[in-house]
Amino acid sequence: MQTQAQAQNNGAAAETAIEVRDLRINYGAVAAVGPVSFSVPKGQQFTLLGPSGCGKSTTLRAIAGLEKPAGGVIKIGNRNMYSSAENLNVPAEDRGLSMVFQSYAIWPHMTVFDNVAYGLKVRRKSREEIEAGVKRALALVQMEGFASRPASQLSGGQQQRVALARACAFSPEVLLFDEPLSNLDAKLRGDMRIELRELQHSLGVTSIYVTHDLEEALAMSDCIVVMNKGRIEQSGSPYEIYNYPRTAFVADFVGSSNLISGKVRADLSSGDDVVLETAGGELVHGNAHGRKLGQQATLSARTVHLQLHTQRPEGERNVWPVTIARSVFLGDLSEIHVNWGGRKLIIRRSALDQMAEGQQVFLSVDPKRCVLLEDDAKAN
Ligand code: ADP
Repeated sequence: MQTQAQAQNNGAAAETAIEVRDLRINYGAVAAVGPVSFSVPKGQQFTLLGPSGCGKSTTLRAIAGLEKPAGGVIKIGNRNMYSSAENLNVPAEDRGLSMVFQSYAIWPHMTVFDNVAYGLKVRRKSREEIEAGVKRALALVQMEGFASRPASQLSGGQQQRVALARACAFSPEVLLFDEPLSNLDAKLRGDMRIELRELQHSLGVTSIYVTHDLEEALAMSDCIVVMNKGRIEQSGSPYEIYNYPRTAFVADFVGSSNLISGKVRADLSSGDDVVLETAGGELVHGNAHGRKLGQQATLSARTVHLQLHTQRPEGERNVWPVTIARSVFLGDLSEIHVNWGGRKLIIRRSALDQMAEGQQVFLSVDPKRCVLLEDDAKAN
């Protein structure tokens, strides 16, 4: 599994497939991206995740050679593809990579075969090589029987499979994906997610995947880079990003909407056990996850990790009386807002047992589930 340090930077690993260093991209006078630096180990599925407009596609397009950066270095394999210092910008078609877009960009007037053959034809492969390449690529996406079908007679999911087959047909070293599943309906998107992951594994190809969809990123990636406003907020394995968000932005993006701020009680904290005293005087126990303590700090606690009880639970730490302020039925889950000494906390829990507004209950949270953030966010 990829560690944060490996994902972060500097291409020290022997098998680095892609290295991006101090990359900056502007649109006119506006800085859209950067500086960002990351490296992608060979064979990995690497994901750029973040909200719309954070610079994911622009970064991907610069790696593809479709956007000219303002500075930095992009290296694929052993070769610099872009380097501002060397005044070098290798054209997209010479970078040995293939890209799959959100709009499938397949040609409706051509057959499936001709669509998939395109990349092989422009590389002037022989007829035998083209036929073998198309056959192999269609088999990969389970579309063997469709070679002679006009592309216009395919469903959305089939068109996206053809786009994938076309991207894989000439065995690129690197595959780039720009939100390739976002035009598909939810069910198909879920299936294709798994297929894509298996395809990437079986080909062993290095890939960079762009998405704003957290679940998609968690399900598919070896390493995730979370971007915000053109910069990297955090990089790490899906497990690490989900369980140990480093900043308030990442905590919010991965669904930890409870941020609890307070004064660090150095007298009660030791090692990774950290204790904050809130403005309301509650002592909240949390986990520093190796992060440094300042005087003030913020803990992030995921909504699904807060528990409600009608009787006071056993134990002393992180148990408080609260009042139910609001209860919203969401199907599988209920979202419950509680009043915690004048502040609001949100809990998501099984919708089976309802709680009435105004009811006095007890809230508890395992200290391990309260993760220290590096930035001191505005919070409870
Ligand atoms: P994302 O892929 O994360 O949604 P983008 O990389 O598309 O974000 O965009 C990053 C920023 O650059 C945004 O502020 C966007 O408005 C701006 N941008 C993207 N493309 C262009 C363009 N062709 N001209 C001007 N600004 C652009």
